[in-house]
Amino acid sequence: MTERIIVIGSGPGGYKSAALGAKRGFDVILVEKNTIGGVCTNTGCIPSKALLSVAELADSIKGAGRKGINAAQESIDFSRVMKNKKRAVKISRKGVEKELKESGVEIIRGEAKLNNNKEVEVNGETLEAEHIIIATGSEPVVLPFLKVDEKNILTNKGAIELESIPESMLIIGGGYIGVEMAFFYSSMGTSVTVVELLDSLLPVMDSSLGKEAESMLKRKGVKIITGAKVSSVEGKKPFKAVLEGSQKEELEFEKILCSVGRKPSPPDIDLDIISEKGSVITDDFMKTPVEGVYAVGDVTGKGMLAHTAYKQAKIVIDTIDKKSNRGFSNYLIPAGVFTHPEIASVGFSEEDAKKEYDDVRTASFPISALGRGYSTGERAGLAKLVCKGDEVIGMHLVCPGATDIIMEGTLAMEKGLTVSDVVDTIHPHPTYSEAIKEAADKLINS
Ligand SMILES: Cc1cc2nc3c(=O)[nH]c(=O)nc-3n(C[C@H](O)[C@H](O)[C@H](O)COP(=O)(O)OP(=O)(O)OC[C@H]3O[C@@H](n4cnc5c(N)ncnc54)[C@H](O)[C@@H]3O)c2cc1C
Repeated sequence: MTERIIVIGSGPGGYKSAALGAKRGFDVILVEKNTIGGVCTNTGCIPSKALLSVAELADSIKGAGRKGINAAQESIDFSRVMKNKKRAVKISRKGVEKELKESGVEIIRGEAKLNNNKEVEVNGETLEAEHIIIATGSEPVVLPFLKVDEKNILTNKGAIELESIPESMLIIGGGYIGVEMAFFYSSMGTSVTVVELLDSLLPVMDSSLGKEAESMLKRKGVKIITGAKVSSVEGKKPFKAVLEGSQKEELEFEKILCSVGRKPSPPDIDLDIISEKGSVITDDFMKTPVEGVYAVGDVTGKGMLAHTAYKQAKIVIDTIDKKSNRGFSNYLIPAGVFTHPEIASVGFSEEDAKKEYDDVRTASFPISALGRGYSTGERAGLAKLVCKGDEVIGMHLVCPGATDIIMEGTLAMEKGLTVSDVVDTIHPHPTYSEAIKEAADKLINS
């Protein structure tokens, strides 16, 4: 008899598990309480990158005069900017729906609960399956004094749905979502202030990237306040925010975006599989402590990126299908910030590498000293390598296309390559990838 898999949630982790499970011959039911495609398609990756592509275009038009193109940026039709974003979301959602349909997945609309008999309850019905995959994603962390209405006090959800360009915006949190939204709204003409509690933007990445992000945003007129916290927000539009850093100040803003992180959001579960941090506990093969119950994606609290969820989806189906696999923790997870220039990173930051190993060596090469930089006029950015002895263990990039080029580092590290292997590999000229080779050259010759 065909074994059944029930998948809860249709984001990258859920829909990929469902489609692959069905293609492997399982009888698959996918339960979704909201819109197909999850955060990635509807409120995360796809819409934010559609907006950022418009920001890049607006900035290019502003700078076109320097290169001899007399293109005046007369105005921004924000409703069409949002329409363009909606189009991208719709195409992405249709792609997911097509993949599910063609794979033969049955979709049930409704909110799923998992009871202590390992049954899924949805719309008053009780469903049974040999395998249950929890893929219910994550939700934004909201500071306790903020009353989010997604119109004026926003999370990422409201930030991509505004109807007009705000005069001013306070972004609380300088992680990748905060940096991307600061980039977008400053390109639209909003006066943006970013407040970050730690000492630099993008605090989980190599510190060189945070510094580059800070310079990039400052060039666009964004005010950056690091090492400070927002302790309260009061009043109505304009909102009064109290900032506490080296000094206490009160500033006024039309909109406030809270981007201080995300937390796992498991469904209602009557099984002992939730960690203290609220994630579903999984091993490397995506199994929870309860046999037949698995979890993938943001709900596991591991990585919290769409490509992490995709990889875990493949691992969980291989696990259920009894195909051998490496287990999740052995994989490197590249990360990207889709500003212009882009920021990307994989492996160890210099700071983390030095905590772990004694023989850490690093080298950087600036984009401004690169043939490609001369020809395009791109002055900002760098490539940085982190090595343990001769082995490449970290790569950090700031340049156009960095989120694609980072794959050179990901592959090099997956295969355990050395800095000599990087130098020995021919890099096309003139490209931004040459900055990686130049940084590697420095390490060989140091
Ligand atoms: C602004 C923003 C930008 C981002 N940009 C990027 C990026 O550029 N690159 C990248 O890799 N990642 C990015 N991410 C992260 C990425 O979106 C997530 O890592 C990814 O969506 C996680 O996928 P998932 O399958 O775990 O869950 P989700 O995409 O969160 O999907 C979970 C689904 O489960 C459903 N669900 C929840 N509970 C139930 C229930 N009880 N019953 C039925 N259905 C339920 C939800 O409705 C949702 O559809 C971004 C996130 C945000 C917020």
